[in-house]
Amino acid sequence: MKKIGLLVVIVLMVVGFFYFDLNRLLTLDGLKSGLEQFEVWRNKSPFLVYGAFFLLYIAVTALSLPGAAIMTLAAGALFGLGWGVLMVSFASSIGATCAFLVSRYLLQDVVQARFGSRLSTINEGIERDGAFYLFTLRLVPVFPFFLINLLMGLTRIRAVTFYWVSQVGMLAGTLVYVNAGTQIGHLDSLSGILSPSLLLSFVLLGVFPLLAKKLTEAIKSRRVYRAYTKPKQFDRNLVVIGAGAGGLVSAYIAATVKAKVSLVEAHKMGGDCLNYGCVPSKALIKSAKVAHQMRHGANYGLEGCEPRFSFRSVMERIQEIIEEIEPHDSVERYTQLGVDVIQGYAKVIDPWTVEIQRQDGKTQRLTTRSIVLATGSKPSVPDIPGLEEVGYLTSDTLWETFSQLDEAPKRLVVLGGGPIGCELAQSFARLGSHVTQVESSERILSREDTDVSEFARATLTNDGVTVLTEHKAVRCEMNNGQKCVWLEHNGSEVRVEYDALICAVGREARLTGYGLEELGIETKRHLVTNDYLQTLFPNILAAGDVAGPYQFTHVAAHQAWYAAVNGLFGQFKKFRADYRVIPWTTFIDPEVARVGLNEQDAKAKGVAFEKVCYGVDDLDRAITESEAKGFVKVLTVPGKDTILGVTIVGEHAGELLAEFVLAMKHGLGLNKILGTIHTYPTWAEANKYAAGEWKRAHAPDRLLRWVEKYHTWRRG
Ligand SMILES: Cc1cc2nc3c(=O)[nH]c(=O)nc-3n(C[C@H](O)[C@H](O)[C@H](O)COP(=O)(O)OP(=O)(O)OC[C@H]3O[C@@H](n4cnc5c(N)ncnc54)[C@H](O)[C@@H]3O)c2cc1C
Repeated sequence: MKKIGLLVVIVLMVVGFFYFDLNRLLTLDGLKSGLEQFEVWRNKSPFLVYGAFFLLYIAVTALSLPGAAIMTLAAGALFGLGWGVLMVSFASSIGATCAFLVSRYLLQDVVQARFGSRLSTINEGIERDGAFYLFTLRLVPVFPFFLINLLMGLTRIRAVTFYWVSQVGMLAGTLVYVNAGTQIGHLDSLSGILSPSLLLSFVLLGVFPLLAKKLTEAIKSRRVYRAYTKPKQFDRNLVVIGAGAGGLVSAYIAATVKAKVSLVEAHKMGGDCLNYGCVPSKALIKSAKVAHQMRHGANYGLEGCEPRFSFRSVMERIQEIIEEIEPHDSVERYTQLGVDVIQGYAKVIDPWTVEIQRQDGKTQRLTTRSIVLATGSKPSVPDIPGLEEVGYLTSDTLWETFSQLDEAPKRLVVLGGGPIGCELAQSFARLGSHVTQVESSERILSREDTDVSEFARATLTNDGVTVLTEHKAVRCEMNNGQKCVWLEHNGSEVRVEYDALICAVGREARLTGYGLEELGIETKRHLVTNDYLQTLFPNILAAGDVAGPYQFTHVAAHQAWYAAVNGLFGQFKKFRADYRVIPWTTFIDPEVARVGLNEQDAKAKGVAFEKVCYGVDDLDRAITESEAKGFVKVLTVPGKDTILGVTIVGEHAGELLAEFVLAMKHGLGLNKILGTIHTYPTWAEANKYAAGEWKRAHAPDRLLRWVEKYHTWRRG
């Protein structure tokens, strides 16, 4: 209401300005013809005229009315150079800030809410370089003054910054215009004030701060290298440390573009994903799912039976699958691709030297133009008294340990309600363990929306997992050979006995022991890098879990491209890592898959959205498979079919998501998905039906009423 009131006042003032023909006064001829009269007034009551002029100037600029340039000339003609510059400098900055604040007050929320996700890059830029950009715009008087005020109001630049940068930035232009005003009699047109050479000087002056900033960055980056001697020649173009997804792809790209590249791996080729992560966990999930389906054979008209199996065989199958995939990431394959693979532990000695303790006992030093750190992450182990003594497993150790067992551990505790915890809890429950899953926050999969968490909880509970949320493990004990963990819940303690405990409370980047500390490379939760994945030393880059913020194999591979290309060709062109469309899937059964914003993220970021939800229980294919549960939830820009984010819960959710990932990546809206033929009966039809839900919600009701009338008329 207040906004509408302000808008009405502004509109009335603008209309009044034109209605009373005041714009005629604010022309060069108007000024020249009225000057004598103004001078009389000024001589009679100077304070009044000074004050009135100052306020009028503020009003004209605040209301974004045409005429600020003429008023600046008038200031020169009436008050001379000194007073003229002083008055205009303050009045124009105050007026500009008023216009900026009005624009911010009236429009910023709407604009940020509607275009927030797309504006985030601009906002980040403004946060970083806003003052510089504004200064450049202010200094070069060809950029329309009122437009800068209004547009800057829509960004997140601080009002104080806007004010002082405007005042300083406009000073040179003000001086030129006021000075021209002192010789108003000789002036024929406004364009005469700015000669091409004067304009060029302004442009140079305007870009100077940006150039200065770039120069400072270059000097800063040179300074970090000062303590080191750069080799005259280099053994390699690139040395990559770590042969997980990030390192393998970096080395692959370097070899493809004919760079001389070494890939150093201390442990197993393929890193976590192949050996302890995605591959073994997905193999486990499959066995668990088959066991589950056997148990629930009645769902498919078969006789349900308790699966008989050797747990050892299940774990052996997992190892066989790892072995089957191993050749994709092997030393042999990468050597064939042209990568020099070295098995050993690498340490960065200086920005161009890597020292390797090779597995054959030798030490090797390599000089290199660039280095990619792809050293990954390791499971976080919570600081719980007694945990070390009683013993625990992580994703690094459980595969090996469990492969020694004939049966799944009878009582298993899984600490952590994130994706890894949920996948493991459900799988081992399906394979016969009594699983207690412990999560300290109020729900599992807390990065997802509440409806997703509830769905996941119900699914896991159905599979026999005891899901304890808002329970915090406080200590572990061994009593008479019996392992137990104490959980704190609502002020009281609960005791849970177990045979095995898996820590799945998150993963932390590997940041120590390979030279970062000695080189002073900054680390927080991850390695600190810029948008180009460069560390403090621009020739040392990072990719994968060590760089964060996402911890997925496909993100590691995605970042690897940027790290390798920026490392090899950054002197010509650098590429900003693009995180706009990042999908992920939690492979519980049924799966949970997401790309872009969900409801809780959109609300947290203040992004306005509309939501449509298609229930998979309605999908023919899902019904035929007796798997009719889950949903496809799509968030869109209000009034448009532009996709902001999608969450899918259900069978094959991870596969279904791909269509939306493609659509978002290439700016295709729901209308395009709706207009695409999807084979009947497939799971993918769920995507089309979700798009159909959107279309129904946006049906042109009025038009349809007319069409109905038309048909009625046609029937006679
Ligand atoms: C149980 C589990 C399930 C997962 N499931 C999925 C999934 O379904 N989908 C998904 O996308 N992601 C999944 N992930 C995450 C995925 O495994 C990681 O995001 C991915 O492995 C990261 O790859 P990376 O290259 O950054 O690091 P890593 O794969 O960890 O590779 C880093 C390598 O660097 C080596 N190294 C470290 N320091 C040195 C050194 N100084 N010298 C030489 N070598 C060194 C290490 O030995 C390691 O091999 C899962 C993870 C776990 C634990």
